[in-house]
Amino acid sequence: MRTKLAAGNWKMNGLTQALSELSGMEEAAKGASEVLICPPFTLVGAAANAAKGIAIGGQDCHAESSGAHTGDVSAAMLKDCGATHVIVGHSERRTDHDERDEDVRAKCAAAWNAGLVVVLCVGESLDEREASNTLDIIGGQLAKSVPDGATGHNLVIAYEPIWAIGTGKVPTTDQIGEVHDFMRARLEKRFGEGVGRSVRLLYGGSVKPSNAAEIFAVSNVDGALVGGASLKAADFVPIIDALN
Ligand code: PGA
Repeated sequence: MRTKLAAGNWKMNGLTQALSELSGMEEAAKGASEVLICPPFTLVGAAANAAKGIAIGGQDCHAESSGAHTGDVSAAMLKDCGATHVIVGHSERRTDHDERDEDVRAKCAAAWNAGLVVVLCVGESLDEREASNTLDIIGGQLAKSVPDGATGHNLVIAYEPIWAIGTGKVPTTDQIGEVHDFMRARLEKRFGEGVGRSVRLLYGGSVKPSNAAEIFAVSNVDGALVGGASLKAADFVPIIDALN
């Protein structure tokens, strides 16, 4: 059985005051699902100290463990300040920082070396969906971004259609199910049935309290990666509860 995961991605949001939201999530985090919050780098250490029963992760890491890379943060540094997870390959990183699948793959390998669990994001653009290329794009991203050595313990995949992120637009449950079933089959084929069945698959993109239960009922959806609705306990708790 895969443990469900409710993951929050705070993106570039949150001053020290925002840490008070974590305590509002603690009760819900005692349920059957795992809860993960990925605050900005500046809050990772403080969040890891403050959070009870909530895992803390970074939103990105460099592919090297140290060196002359001004402004970057390594996986070992995240681990050192209490993170257990890291998101890699988010579409905002792929777009804003021109990250390619090879970069995402190297970051994932670096995170595994440091002992972090990776939440690796894939997803198609609106043009790609409208051209009926979604499964090709997702298959290519999985093949190129995920290094060898994946297990159910070190890897979580998040399917985040770019056109659904922060837009309020959500794919139909059939569309989500099609991609998640496809990803499951690809992972089983590449890594074997045992590993392929144990990797958790999250859906991300405009998940809210009002649509969470419907999305969580879709086959092969093991949780969500939530942006805007993870910033406040009042929004994130009902999503966690829908998963529990
Ligand atoms: P959203 O973001 O929930 O605000 O759409 C999801 C994400 O980018 O992870």
